[in-house]
Amino acid sequence: MRPFSYHRPTDLAQAAALLESGDDVAALAGGHTLLPAIKSRLRAPDGLVDLSAIPGLAGIREDGDRLLVGAMTRHADVATSPQVAAHCRALARLAGGIGDPQVRNRGTLGGSIANNDPAADYPAAVLGLAATVHTSQRRIEADDFFQGMFTTALEPGELVTAVAFPRPLAAGYGRFAHPASRYALVGVFVARFAAGVRVAVTGAGAGVFRWMAAENCLSGSFDLGSVAGLVPDEADMNGDIHASAPYRAHLCSVMLGRALADCAASS
Ligand SMILES: Cc1cc2nc3c(=O)[nH]c(=O)nc-3n(C[C@H](O)[C@H](O)[C@H](O)COP(=O)(O)OP(=O)(O)OC[C@H]3O[C@@H](n4cnc5c(N)ncnc54)[C@H](O)[C@@H]3O)c2cc1C
Repeated sequence: MRPFSYHRPTDLAQAAALLESGDDVAALAGGHTLLPAIKSRLRAPDGLVDLSAIPGLAGIREDGDRLLVGAMTRHADVATSPQVAAHCRALARLAGGIGDPQVRNRGTLGGSIANNDPAADYPAAVLGLAATVHTSQRRIEADDFFQGMFTTALEPGELVTAVAFPRPLAAGYGRFAHPASRYALVGVFVARFAAGVRVAVTGAGAGVFRWMAAENCLSGSFDLGSVAGLVPDEADMNGDIHASAPYRAHLCSVMLGRALADCAASS
């Protein structure tokens, strides 16, 4: 491992200044993606800016009719929060299914969405629920935040500070986990609002995406029958050593059914 400097700022302005210093400096949240990447030499930053001493970045609170989850809130805290369960049980369940207990006790919401792994779970919930990402500079709607594999709308030095989740009428998540890594081979998040239904898919393509055909069917009639036989285009699916594109397309369909069953169980 290459030597690097370590900083632990106590406010956002200090953190931003360090991140914008011109060197290759990375924000450090739970380290559950960044540290393995450094150890395996996929990344070699000159410095790390540990976000753990910045007050106000972790925690869950109501903000009007939205639930505001801080960027440094760990998956385990979202999974076990009565506030999250009352607001959107599917979000708590999604967090409780990420990785294993070690991952859930270190990994954070902000780190997960900033990293935007194409197989990560949180992007599906953030996009499906039409959440708003709060950053150190602005607010970004989920539809604009995720921009493809490991790519987001974040500018250099910009930090996720929280995510504001609207309250759905119903929501559910269906996920087929890779048996070794526990990452989603395919995960489908369904959220029903008065204005219509949103369906977000992770794991299947180059990044999280909205499945518009499913949204249109379910906005017309919110039941399994309306999406019977609906399968996404195989050309839009990933194919790799873990699963072929046709298999991922099939899984989208099956996970959509499970997400709808989860909606019914939650309401
Ligand atoms: C064994 C294992 C299994 C896993 N299984 C799953 C799984 O099933 N599902 C799943 O979704 N995930 C899974 N993960 C990933 C896990 O959810 C991590 O939480 C996630 O990768 C982010 O890690 P972190 O919060 O520790 O962030 P870090 O690793 O500290 O940071 C990740 C990236 O985000 C940047 N970053 C961190 N915080 C911020 C911020 N606030 N603002 C801007 N940029 C920031 C960092 O600079 C870095 O580039 C797994 C990880 C491991 C190691």
